[in-house]
Amino acid sequence: MDKTVKKLEIKAIEIRKSIMEIIEYGQSGHTGSDMSCTDILTTLYFQMMNIDPNTPDDPDRDRYIQSKGHAAEALWAVLAEKGFFPKEELKTFYSFGSRLIGHPNNKVEGIEMNTGSLGHGLSLSVGIALAAKKDNKSYHTYTLLGDGELAEGSVWEGAMAAAHYKLDNLTAVIDRNGLQITGKSEEVMGVDPLKEKFEAFGWQVIEIDDGNSIEQLLNSFNTAHEKGKPKMIIAHTTKGKGLSFAENQINWHHKVATEEEFTGAMKSFDSQLEVLKNDI
Ligand SMILES: [Mg+2]
Repeated sequence: MDKTVKKLEIKAIEIRKSIMEIIEYGQSGHTGSDMSCTDILTTLYFQMMNIDPNTPDDPDRDRYIQSKGHAAEALWAVLAEKGFFPKEELKTFYSFGSRLIGHPNNKVEGIEMNTGSLGHGLSLSVGIALAAKKDNKSYHTYTLLGDGELAEGSVWEGAMAAAHYKLDNLTAVIDRNGLQITGKSEEVMGVDPLKEKFEAFGWQVIEIDDGNSIEQLLNSFNTAHEKGKPKMIIAHTTKGKGLSFAENQINWHHKVATEEEFTGAMKSFDSQLEVLKNDI
């Protein structure tokens, strides 16, 4: 297997360990949602995006907007690993006065926008991508949506505008894990056929059957943009990915591991790391 893929797979497991620790420190967190999108974030931050933690305000930096803001622990883990702030600060998660709260906020270096009020991220990203066009800038804008938040009407307004303004400098990813806080997404508010809907809205759509596969994610991000079209990656993920007790379990949307679950998970991640590291 490609060395880049292996290195990213190792990084993703390290991020998963860090997420478990952050939630353990804060005794709160969206465990299932974080694990679902860990591979997407790892691929973006450690391979795709042009960003430098030393110059977080560089006007030419790529932009990332996390519309599913509740998966904040995954983002904190990635930003700390990338060097935007000291890893030591992760221990303050969810404590009084900490910058690291349960949703992304722009007091933290590397965060472009406060998010978490669902359904806004795509429209925010459309504005940022449109600004790049107006300013003749070549930076790319990435955004991550949950599948549960597709029930918000503002997502479809953003989808319409992105195509209207021919934003081929925008890539959106839907973390299609099929679950949301109150149940199965298709039962709460059906959105299928998703691919056909975004295509009808004028998007280039790539659907991958394993959104936790770094290889599939890399291929989809690296697929060239069709001229004048925003790109949508529908990534079929597993909520709680990597945790035997949490995979595809609705009640793990927001839940903290017991001491036993925590220890078991860390052990399992460590043995996966050993295999991968020996193989590289
Ligand atoms: Mg979901």
